[in-house]
Amino acid sequence: MIRPVLVTGGSRGIGRAIAVELAASGHPVAVNFASSAAAAADVVDTITAAGGEARAYQADVSDQDAVAGLFESAAADLGPVQVLVNNAGITRDDLLLRMGPEKWDAVINTNLRSVYLCTKAALRGMLRAKWGRIISVSSVSGISGNAGQANYAASKAGVIGFTKSVAREVGSRGITANVVAPGFIETDMTAALGNEAADAVVERITLGRLGSPQEVASAVGYLASEQASYITGQTIVVDGGLAL
Ligand code: NAP
Repeated sequence: MIRPVLVTGGSRGIGRAIAVELAASGHPVAVNFASSAAAAADVVDTITAAGGEARAYQADVSDQDAVAGLFESAAADLGPVQVLVNNAGITRDDLLLRMGPEKWDAVINTNLRSVYLCTKAALRGMLRAKWGRIISVSSVSGISGNAGQANYAASKAGVIGFTKSVAREVGSRGITANVVAPGFIETDMTAALGNEAADAVVERITLGRLGSPQEVASAVGYLASEQASYITGQTIVVDGGLAL
């Protein structure tokens, strides 16, 4: 069964690994990006060189019109999206007393509003197909909280509550909705923190190391597979034991 996939923020980091993983399982993949056109093209090249099918689509997933265009284009090229991976995300860290509304709004819009917009856009096709997988990338910050990340933790906790509600709304229609919550994964996002901060986090990780994008992609691949057909409304934590 050919099941078209859309990965938001598929140009770099965790999203890139998810796109490559799902393409290797035989899914045609729509690789969304905000501004990294060259990086997205490289993901498409990697997938097609391995015998898979992929296309890149620019769209700011916090923008309603852009999301509508993204789903239209992906459906025209690859077929209606049946596996949606809400992965795009940003951080704008600051202590709450210094956090202006622009940092709050940017993070909530990119990390949470996007999940609402994309899930809604994907649902119509999934309801018609009576099958769908919605997988959203949250964070352990959304479960445990993190000083300096009130905006980010709120957005990621929101993704978990949103997913549980959607799972209840559409479960009877053959659609599952789940969350993957990574801990500290080696990507551009965490590289910005610097070595000292990374070393301090590693000390708190049970497995004693940072995670790789591929380790998150494996959990997403499982949730997208037939093996996960009876799992919905759940959060799989992929953090090496950080939040134990
Ligand atoms: P990353 O390396 O910074 O990549 C972020 C991706 O999101 C890029 O592909 C970027 O596109 C895309 N993006 C950002 N804003 C967008 C927008 N408005 N519209 C469309 N795409 C947008 O981040 P990452 O570390 O892979 O993180 C991926 C997800 O995992 C995020 O949701 C993040 O919160 C979550 N997460 C990461 C970690 C970690 O330790 N890295 C831990 C927990 C959760 P461009 O390339 O075009 O900029």
